[in-house]
Amino acid sequence: MATRLQNMSFLTHLECTRCGKQYAAEALQTTCPDDGKPLYPRYDYKGIAAAVTKDQIARRPPNLWRYREFLPVREDANIVSLGEGMTPLLRTGRLAAQLGVNNLWVKDEGQMPTGSFKARGMSVAVSRALELGVKRVAVPSAGNAGGALAAYAARAGMEAYIFMPRDVPHANQVEVQAAGARGFLVEGLITNCGALVREGTAAMGWFDMSTLKEPYRVEGKKTMGFEVAEQLRWELPDVIVYPAGGGTGLVGMWKAFEELERIGWLAGRRPRMVCVQAEHCAPIVKAHQEGKAEASPWPDAATVAGGIRVPSAVGDFLMLRVLRESQGAAVAVSDPELLEGVGLLARTEGIFACPEGGATVAALRRLVEQGWIAKEERVVLFNTGSGFKYLEAFPAKLETAAPGFWQQPPAHTS
Ligand SMILES: *Cc1c(COP(=O)(O)O)cnc(C)c1O
Repeated sequence: MATRLQNMSFLTHLECTRCGKQYAAEALQTTCPDDGKPLYPRYDYKGIAAAVTKDQIARRPPNLWRYREFLPVREDANIVSLGEGMTPLLRTGRLAAQLGVNNLWVKDEGQMPTGSFKARGMSVAVSRALELGVKRVAVPSAGNAGGALAAYAARAGMEAYIFMPRDVPHANQVEVQAAGARGFLVEGLITNCGALVREGTAAMGWFDMSTLKEPYRVEGKKTMGFEVAEQLRWELPDVIVYPAGGGTGLVGMWKAFEELERIGWLAGRRPRMVCVQAEHCAPIVKAHQEGKAEASPWPDAATVAGGIRVPSAVGDFLMLRVLRESQGAAVAVSDPELLEGVGLLARTEGIFACPEGGATVAALRRLVEQGWIAKEERVVLFNTGSGFKYLEAFPAKLETAAPGFWQQPPAHTS
């Protein structure tokens, strides 16, 4: 019992999401050595149920470490935090009315440290890496993961190597530089960056923080599921709409719901999960429509929504499994539609979303028009990052930015 008091994590082992083989959690692991598939951390759920209550959690500080028992870090001293988590779940009125639904919320991850929800995964993964003795980390990134890792590695005193496509938003380049990481701009996409990280591992001795290859980023992202549950008084919504690239958040939330059910904190149906992708990078949408269990790599992937510009993902089969199990949907939207989604969210609710967040608005519009979502259903959209990280993507594209938007002040004001 004495160890329990100091050791608030109930982590027991890692388990392969494909073959089910189990591995020790106290050794550094990437994917399953047998089949190369992602490993999920598993916990002593009975122990969690006996150790903590919803009321105790409600009294803890408003960040993701309030779910301490469900997270893998053993010692508090190893937690590397910038205050991430417990973002507001904003009920919408004007946006809901425009889209023809009555119960619509936006989970605003734009308010996170580093301006995107990548902070969740990186806080937990960097903390656990620190605990396991890692000194040097590397990551392939579509932009925001690189920025987040650079920041958390700086706070942890680790060396970080960040590989991003040459055309990532300026903000991502500046944040990596500011945090003193080693940055590499790569010709191509995140998949090309991933190959460089893999090839460099032997020579550079870095730990590969690629999402779902490293087992703990998903644990940070699953806290979005805990928060939605807690913020809606432990009654999940009917539908969650999520812009998926690597899919970590989508599968992470599903894992969170499973864990909450195991300890008896949730009753009733889980939400139908909606995966939103961009028209010119929609591998999961295509595979889902074709009833496939795995996705094929998407050729010539292109979209301004960089976070979902992921032509192939190690967790493809996990996303597709969640869509099937939840009786969810997969929707592809065009760049003009998702940018219009950004404008609509800002004009109706004052939320300045990233393009990926705008994509969820466009997808919701489509699903309501098709009758897949009914007026009274409770719907949560995920705005996964701040519009401020994508300034170069917007001005010309916003409906309110027609030439002549900015005017000289009228004479009588001077
Ligand atoms: C990474 C990213 C996504 C996709 O997240 P996954 O959980 O990897 O699917 C969506 N939006 C933004 C802003 C991102 O940075």
